Amino acid sequence: MSISFNKVKQSYFQYLLLVSTAGVGLLVLSIFQIPSFIPLNVFLLLLGLAIVAQLSTASLPVGSEGITYQVAPAIAAAAIPFFGPFAVVFIDAAAALSLWILKPADEKTWKKSWEQLAFNTGMNALAMFCAGLSFLWLREILGAETVWGQLIPWLAAAVVHDQVNLWLLIGIMRLSQGRTLQPLAIWRENRWAMALSIPLFAIGGWLLSFTIQRFGLLGGATFFLPIVLSSFAFRLYVREMQGHMDNLEHIIADRTHELRKLMKERDAFLAVLTHDMKTPLTSISLYADILLRKPEIILEKPEIAMIFKRNQKALLEIVENILDLEKLQTDEGLQLTKDQLPINQMIGEIVESLEPMAFEKTIRLVFDQHLKPLYVCGDAQQLRRIFQNLLSNAVKYTPEGGEVRIEVSDQGEQIQIVFRDNGIGIPAEDLPYIFDRFRRVKKHEHQAVGTGLGLAIAKALVEAHDGQIEVDSAEGVGSTFSIVLPAYLSERSV
Ligand code: ATP
Ligand code: MG
Repeated sequence: MSISFNKVKQSYFQYLLLVSTAGVGLLVLSIFQIPSFIPLNVFLLLLGLAIVAQLSTASLPVGSEGITYQVAPAIAAAAIPFFGPFAVVFIDAAAALSLWILKPADEKTWKKSWEQLAFNTGMNALAMFCAGLSFLWLREILGAETVWGQLIPWLAAAVVHDQVNLWLLIGIMRLSQGRTLQPLAIWRENRWAMALSIPLFAIGGWLLSFTIQRFGLLGGATFFLPIVLSSFAFRLYVREMQGHMDNLEHIIADRTHELRKLMKERDAFLAVLTHDMKTPLTSISLYADILLRKPEIILEKPEIAMIFKRNQKALLEIVENILDLEKLQTDEGLQLTKDQLPINQMIGEIVESLEPMAFEKTIRLVFDQHLKPLYVCGDAQQLRRIFQNLLSNAVKYTPEGGEVRIEVSDQGEQIQIVFRDNGIGIPAEDLPYIFDRFRRVKKHEHQAVGTGLGLAIAKALVEAHDGQIEVDSAEGVGSTFSIVLPAYLSERSV
């Protein structure tokens, strides 16, 4: 493998060197010919026009490749009837070089490298020189004064220029990419580009040389300058279009990201529907069937009514949670009735309500009350929900024999409430998303039932009270959820 790769590399550099040297050799020869380019002002006009045209070349991004329409070679070609093939080589190379020097590199269509400059100079010089020779040869045969002598040489020069360029390029591509590259496939792909570049070269070259011959220097300049300028305007337009396209790409990327997030949420929502809602529904349906078949069973087993009630409550809770979250996330929000609330007493009641659950799991519930009576400013019902969610999580996700601690502290304008447990903790990769809707730690799913809405609701409610919620957790060590809520200060109006 490595031998053949080296071979490819070696022949690639040999080819690159050959084309570059041949082309640069032609260019050097053409520099020596400059004194013979008479009238000099025509030569300078064509040189100037070609440089302006080259600088205004517009690249259209098509797929991953860029397509470039070049007017400069056609302008350079107009020099053939006046000064012969060396002048064309010089003008084309000077135009290409000025572009290389002045145009900053960009990632998509234009990369600057010495290797590229050398090869391009060589390739263009060879193509131009061959085009010039074929032009002169055919005009010699057909005669400059005949109609064929006016048309065929231009067409031939255009075809020769295009094909020499293309095949030299295919050569280097084949050597750098190996046998996977199909030369004929590339040629076929370029067919439609040829349909544009060949007439552009032939008609442009012919028209410009004809105008200069017929109307002199000024005629040529006045005729061709607008064409070059409009090509420049086209370039500006393409640039702006490219800007818009980049912008669109960003917008699409953002939207795709949002859409992916929404789809994830939808999947999680469906999981809740299918898992958490289906279980109580199936249970209700099973017991309803039994009752239909044997209604008197209710007398023997009155607990069936309790099963209905429990399942109905579970379903109602899920539905209410979803609806509340929706409400909290709309602009109107949930209607909060703010009061002066004694925090020690409220937490005390929640702790009491969760004691049976903690007792069952032999979990110690410790409430560190603040000695001073403290008051928060908030909605009693909603604050109870926050505390209930956080405390029930702490008990749910702490194994038997663990400890859950609640601490209340006075922070002046705010009151901090901390729920600390030494339970199973939250893995680091889940921690940043733990307040997202329907988010549950995969590993915890067997630990306790839940919908993954409790923390999302708690966060939304804390924020609706202008408070903050934070979490700190380590797997196997425990979790600490801490919230701060605005204190009720007697001078503050509610
Ligand atoms: P529910 O909607 O009934 O509250 P839930 O408890 O699963 O369901 P959240 O309260 O939103 O949902 O909690 C989300 C997830 O965060 C939980 O599923 C659990 O994996 C993890 N989690 C929450 N609190 C703790 C905690 N104290 N210790 C360890 N993991 C926790
Ligand atoms: Mg919960």
